[in-house]
This record gives sequence, C-alpha cells and structure tokens, in this order.
Amino acid sequence: MAQISEAQVLDALVGIIDPRSGGNLVESDMISGLAIKDNMVQFSLEIGDPALAEEMEPLRKKAETAVGEIPGVLSVTAILTAERPRAQAQNTAPQKQQKQPGKGAAKITHIIAVASGKGGVGKSTTSVNIALALKARGLEVGMLDADVYGPSMPRMLGVQGRPDSADGKTLDPKESNGIKVMSMGFMVEEDQPVVWRGPMVMGALQQMLNDVNWGKLDVLVVDMPPGTGDAQLTMAQSVPLAGAVIVSTPQDIALLDARKGLNMFRKTDVPVLGIVENMSYFLCPKCGEQSDIFGHGGARDEAAKLGCDFLGEIPLHMDIRTTSDSGTPIVVSQPDSAHAQAYKAIAEKVWQKLSGETASGRAAPNIVMS
Ligand code: ADP
Repeated sequence: MAQISEAQVLDALVGIIDPRSGGNLVESDMISGLAIKDNMVQFSLEIGDPALAEEMEPLRKKAETAVGEIPGVLSVTAILTAERPRAQAQNTAPQKQQKQPGKGAAKITHIIAVASGKGGVGKSTTSVNIALALKARGLEVGMLDADVYGPSMPRMLGVQGRPDSADGKTLDPKESNGIKVMSMGFMVEEDQPVVWRGPMVMGALQQMLNDVNWGKLDVLVVDMPPGTGDAQLTMAQSVPLAGAVIVSTPQDIALLDARKGLNMFRKTDVPVLGIVENMSYFLCPKCGEQSDIFGHGGARDEAAKLGCDFLGEIPLHMDIRTTSDSGTPIVVSQPDSAHAQAYKAIAEKVWQKLSGETASGRAAPNIVMS
C-alpha cells in the first residue's frame, strides 16, 4: 500500500479557504500536529479563540473530507485547537495539542475512558457500575458505549430502540437509572452483525460525543472497544480524555494484556487513573468462602511495579453477572451489597482523582505524581 505523504495532505488542505482570514488553511498557518501513521492522518486546526469552535466546526469537517478523499487514506481525525493567540501564531513553537470538545460535549466536565487489553474481562460491567456509582454519589453522569464491536449497554441498562432527534441533526441520549446513555447498539438491529470499516470505527467516538445532546454532565464514562490497536489508539486521541481506567483479570495482568492498555494511554498523554482487577477471586455464594482461582492480587503488585494506581478489586460472582445481563447492574439493584460497595469505592477514587474532592466534599491536598 502506497504511503501517504505530508505533502499530499497539505496539498489537499491548500484548497480550503478559512472564511475569517480569506487565506487557505496552510497559508493561514492553521495546520499543526500533522501526523501520518499507516495512512491514518491526524492534524489540528488552530483557531486562536475557543469561542470560535462552533463557527469553525464546518471548516474542520471540510478539512477532514478533503484529506479523506486522498486515495489510500484510511482515516482522518482533525481537531480544533485554540492554543495560541492569533497574533503570535507565527512565532510560537509547536505546543502540546489540546483537543477541543465539539458542540454536544461542550458542557461535559470530565470524560473518562474504560479500556482493557482484550475482550471479555468485564470492561463493560465495570464501566456501567462505575457510572452508576458516580450517579449514586450525586453527580450528573453519562455513559457512552463506544464498544462498536460488541455494544453491551442496551442489555446492561435495559434500553433499546433508536434515539430521538428533535432537529434531525443531533441525537438525544436515552436515560436509564438517572444516567444518560448512548450506544452504537441503538443504531443497529439487535441480532444483526455489525460490520464496521476502520475509518467508521475511528470517527464513531467523536460523532457520538459531538452529535449527541449530552447536556451538562460532571462525568462521561466511555466504554472503549477492547484491545489496544490503532482503532482504539485513534479513538483515545480523538476526544479530550481526562483519564483512563484499565480493567484486567488476574490472568491478563500476568499475560501483560493490561500493560498494553497502559502503554496505549501513555502514548497519548492521557493520564491513567488506575487499574481495576476484575474476577479477582471467587466468592462462593453458598458457603461464602473465597477462592483465588486466578491467583488474586496480581494487579495490585503489577500496578505498583508499573507506577500506576490500583483502584480496587471485584470478585467473580454470579450476582454481578445476572444483574448486569438483565439490565439492572448491581450498584442499582443491590446498592448495599459488598459488590456494590466495591464499585462505589472505585468510583470514589476515580472522582477524587478527577476533581480533587474527597468523600466529605472538601478539596483534597494536591498530590504530585511523577
Ligand atoms: P467486556 O466488556 O470486557 O467484553 P463484559 O463486561 O461484557 O466484558 O463481561 C463479560 C461477561 O462476564 C458478562 O456476561 C458479564 O456479566 C460477566 N462478568 C463481568 N464481570 C463479572 C464479575 N465480576 N463476576 C461475574 N461475572 C462477571
């Protein structure tokens, strides 16, 4: 496959005029952070003033379309940035990119990703219970099911059907247990296989974020597709994530799958909030005895070795499976159970890290992590 060059991308962007300056995007020095990897293209459009984001959105779309039309391009992600005052634009060295949330995401304070090195480790179960625990704590919460390969939120939250659209352009999220929910699963029939082309997967998160009327949220929890490939990496880079939670089973820790997840976020400068060990041990529902089937505790040690925080452990328990598979996750259906408490403790740690607030509502002292 022929490799796309920087010159080809810039050639495509020269053809687009910035209506504000009257010059083309390249001449107007608006393009920064151009990166091409395996024919996936990313760049930023520097707009000077964050207040212009809405006005400049059509320009961003035009730029994406133009680059997407270059033969061989697999995906394009263009983001709006407002790092430099226009007057100084020429003299400033390239800076760290800041992703500008689009319209739908404008009132979301923190967006966090829940990720895993591979499928089936309980990432979605953990995401939904963390989201509901944050809600139980009194926060406004949204749940975005970006697991386009196997959307599970319709089942786990008992919500189905197509979302409404009042204006024909943006979608209204559904509501379940007091949280707002959006899932690719709403857009496709339940038993139809979803066939996604790479570029669609990569654009999906941005779209679900920007084209959905989320309203004001304290936290949006994003259930990422499993794995650590390019699609996941591009997704993680395409939205302004405040942090990531990595879910792992004890075996995966041993097999380094969780490490891959960590490394993916480290590549993107997204802070890793910590690791959750799921299916950590087996709690016998009959006798209450704890068995460490998979060698419990690995994640705590591994997290320490990797220099990242350990957020907590969740046992392998039938109630966790039956409740989440029947649309009533354990945090809402058995809020006082030990399992619900475990999820709540994890959510509390996540919220402390995001907001700096302690459980009593006071600001925690600043902790500097190296
Ligand atoms: P992923 O999102 O990583 O693919 P899911 O959250 O869909 O994984 O979980 C896979 C299956 O395992 C589901 O049927 C879920 O109910 C079950 N499961 C997840 N965590 C637990 C747990 N701690 N105890 C029992 N069953 C669990």
